[in-house]
Amino acid sequence: MADYKMLIDGELCDSASGETFATYNPATGEKIADVAKGDRKDAERAVAAARRAFDEGPWPKMSGAERGAKLREIAQLIADNSAELSEIEARDGGGTIRKAMMADIPGAQSAFEWFAQMAETRPDRTDLEGSPFPVSSNYVLFEPLGVCTGIVPWNFPFIMASWKIAPALAAGNTSVLKPASFTSLSALRLAQLINDADILPPGVLNVVAGPGGTVGEELAGNPMVDKTAFTGSTEVGRRIMQLASGTVKPVTLELGGKSANIVLDDADLDQAAAGVLWGTFMHGGQVCESGTRALVHASIYDEFVNLLVERSAKITLGDPLDMASDLGPLVDPSQVETVERYVALGREEVGEPLIGGHKPTDLADGLNPDSFYRPTIFAGVPNTARIAQEEIFGPVLSVIPFSTDDEAIAIANDSIYGLAGGVQSGNLERAEAVAARMRTGTVWINDYHLIDPKRPFGGYKQSGIGRELGTQGYDIYRQAKHIHVNPETAGRDNHFHYALLSGEI
Ligand code: NAD
Repeated sequence: MADYKMLIDGELCDSASGETFATYNPATGEKIADVAKGDRKDAERAVAAARRAFDEGPWPKMSGAERGAKLREIAQLIADNSAELSEIEARDGGGTIRKAMMADIPGAQSAFEWFAQMAETRPDRTDLEGSPFPVSSNYVLFEPLGVCTGIVPWNFPFIMASWKIAPALAAGNTSVLKPASFTSLSALRLAQLINDADILPPGVLNVVAGPGGTVGEELAGNPMVDKTAFTGSTEVGRRIMQLASGTVKPVTLELGGKSANIVLDDADLDQAAAGVLWGTFMHGGQVCESGTRALVHASIYDEFVNLLVERSAKITLGDPLDMASDLGPLVDPSQVETVERYVALGREEVGEPLIGGHKPTDLADGLNPDSFYRPTIFAGVPNTARIAQEEIFGPVLSVIPFSTDDEAIAIANDSIYGLAGGVQSGNLERAEAVAARMRTGTVWINDYHLIDPKRPFGGYKQSGIGRELGTQGYDIYRQAKHIHVNPETAGRDNHFHYALLSGEI
């Protein structure tokens, strides 16, 4: 029996096969729990339940205000259980408890609140004026899509789950969510809390953990699914598009990134160094929008690089449950191995890093050093280097010099990705001119990583399709239906149009 069960059709259950998988605390290597391991059958059952709940249940017929009230109940449930959820998130994924308490749990709560507001206030009908056909009136209804599936990565499991579930439900859809196997616990616990509180009709929300190759593929390919929203790697994103194409279902893809944080020569260097380090190393760099390329003006280059090194030496690694730790482990020792491969490549491509380039040697007893990696900075990196082009998803910064704003913009845009970026400058007019020319979905000026549910988030180029959050992130969960009403109930116009067809005119 699993410690953490899946939610299908209003029931917390084990998988049909009875199989489970273990999940570990990466900081210590200790097993935390056994999780119900879903397979295709469980995914099919969840999709069928969501289909029934959409086709026959009350959820899509409820008013936006009624659905908004339900989402607000979920937001309150998250707030009421924030201490427990924060601890689950930190223990399961290795992010610090500080981050969980300040960002992950309140971030998910505010996503539910924002989409509640969308359901309450965004009109589900627009009347159209000025019809070219004199006797008709016309309007557009905004309707839910149907069954929406969400597939999420391991780096921000709770927030990512909220970004999939909240807009789908707010717009009147039903939802099936698959968390990533490294970090399934917080989404499963949320499902349990919602179910215990009896907030939603059965089948409106389903959560199935399990492998991407079975559960994920089923959720993207199943013909009863009307939309799939995926967050993860660009490689799997391509596969999701292929699977969804079978029934031409719309997809939202939030994929990888290699974002540039541009430091102009008029920046306050101390502030900018703090911004670059925060933009790169937050959560050990396991963040899609991380500013892992720092583009630094040649005139301030040496001084700035020294500041980066000085300050990154002060970042402490430790138990994520300790409020004093700046960084915890990466999600799994296998992720550390990936980082080690890239650092070895960086040594070949550009030479020794200025700092880092190894696992920590001073961890407290009981912590697993194979899960941790020191913040690492390579300087003088050509933008063509693989460490500057490929997403590492770990604490590795490439510093790249430039001489003019035009050159900085060209380097920033020379990437297959286009998720985010930053500009650090003392001149807002200049910074905004640079930001306008960056081909990315978000640019932070003198800031980084600040994501708010009210503002759209998503990528250009191979960083994705569509936007989550904002009004855009609500509207993509609805479709427009045009209704044309000819008030001539006696059908005189039909006779006229038939005459056009038959040539009687
Ligand atoms: P991943 O692509 O390996 O997995 C993401 C999810 O897809 C997991 O739940 C996984 O089980 C599932 N999956 C794997 N193969 C599948 C398949 N064939 N069919 C269906 N589902 C499948 O990504 P990850 O390693 O969990 O996360 C890291 C990646 O996520 C990075 O590339 C990062 O940039 C990206 N990411 C993007 C954003 C964003 O908003 N753009 C946010 C967070 C993470």
